[in-house]
Amino acid sequence: MSELAYPYEAPASQALFDRAEAVTPGGVNSPVRAFRAVGGTPRFMVSGTGPYLTDADGREYVDLVCSWGPMILGHAHPEVIAAVQDAVARGTSFGTPGEGEVALAEEMVSRVAPLEQVRLVSSGTEATMSAIRLARGFTQRAKVIKFAGCYHGHVDSLLAAAGSGVATFALPDTPGVTGAQAGDTIVLPYNDLDAVREAFRAHPGEIACVITEASPGNMGVVPPADGFNQGLKDICSENGALYISDEVMTGFRTSRAGWFGVDGVVPDLMTFGKVMGGGFPAAAFGGRADVMAHLAPAGPVYQAGTLSGNPVATAAGLAQLRLLDDAAYAKVDAVSKEIQGLVTGALTKEGVAHRLQTASNMFSVFFTDRPVRDYEDAKAQESFRYTAFFHSLLANGVYLPPSSFESWFVSAAHDERAVQRIADAVPAAARAAAEATA
Ligand SMILES: *Cc1c(COP(=O)(O)O)cnc(C)c1O
Repeated sequence: MSELAYPYEAPASQALFDRAEAVTPGGVNSPVRAFRAVGGTPRFMVSGTGPYLTDADGREYVDLVCSWGPMILGHAHPEVIAAVQDAVARGTSFGTPGEGEVALAEEMVSRVAPLEQVRLVSSGTEATMSAIRLARGFTQRAKVIKFAGCYHGHVDSLLAAAGSGVATFALPDTPGVTGAQAGDTIVLPYNDLDAVREAFRAHPGEIACVITEASPGNMGVVPPADGFNQGLKDICSENGALYISDEVMTGFRTSRAGWFGVDGVVPDLMTFGKVMGGGFPAAAFGGRADVMAHLAPAGPVYQAGTLSGNPVATAAGLAQLRLLDDAAYAKVDAVSKEIQGLVTGALTKEGVAHRLQTASNMFSVFFTDRPVRDYEDAKAQESFRYTAFFHSLLANGVYLPPSSFESWFVSAAHDERAVQRIADAVPAAARAAAEATA
């Protein structure tokens, strides 16, 4: 039970949360939703339309989470809803191939040049798990490099923390992951190419792949330094390893072609989720056709899924992608800039040390006066200021991510009225952040 020392109460949400805690561990189906990082009652949402969410107590919020990225056209976009209704009316799952999954794959391949072939799955976790299996099967090697602070879903081998010193074996990051599962993972500091070179020197012929968020958004927004992604690609090529760009968050969000459309670095494999599912469970991995040819039934690496390429999910994803033209991205980018300006303007006015970090239309604010280049920098922020900032905005109808280690997301539906709500709310939130104490 959470105490109610927060700006206002949410009795209907609290009653649902009490019911949820009785039947679900921690009352939620994904940990961040429980508000543990910020405290207070998690808001149970009952509906969404455009840039707004409405909770069980009937309060409306401007949504700056957008389901953690997928709702880039806003909630309940009429054309996406129509496509879903049309698909649902024709049946919800066949366990056979269907045209919708071909059309979605064609749309993705036409947007992202390095994507020669894709395989559809149902979650980002499945996408990264399968991409790693494929990389290991293709290279006949076991080890994987990942970066501290990058999140690739809850894949066992990727829930690993850095061991002591660079290029040593990683340690399980959670009970339930064995030393053996984590032991083939090498965890390195983000934005550190020397550490990557050193790891390849220490493990010649053993490293199957490097997986990285194309531009990390899961430790807050920490974009790659100039040349970092290209450096990774080059080191992989020189060493016979595959470069896997995880675009589950950035894919079809940071541009029509995702982060590839921003930095142009050509990965061997890529992973997708979030935006491409239009709010449904659809995700994918893909890339070089010669690598994808190793996947069953074309090749020996096994991978499958009962609901993979589900007709309702693919209809939603395809409808959303088709609406995401240059004008839509221009709109998302513009409203993102506007909100960024409001937030930094208010914090600056109150003298609050902060860093706004951006990756195209993704952004987040770190309460620190130093640039954030990796996870250690991100952890050095004054998160207690975020808590105060978050609750002040929540009380005034603006819904931020309930953690200071997340990207903020906007949509093409964030209009002047929504922006005005943020403009009205942010001065008090900046004051709350200024006055907050640890
Ligand atoms: C969200 C996310 C995932 C996991 O996707 P799920 O659909 O939650 O399993 C993987 N990688 C990145 C970069 C993500 O942001």
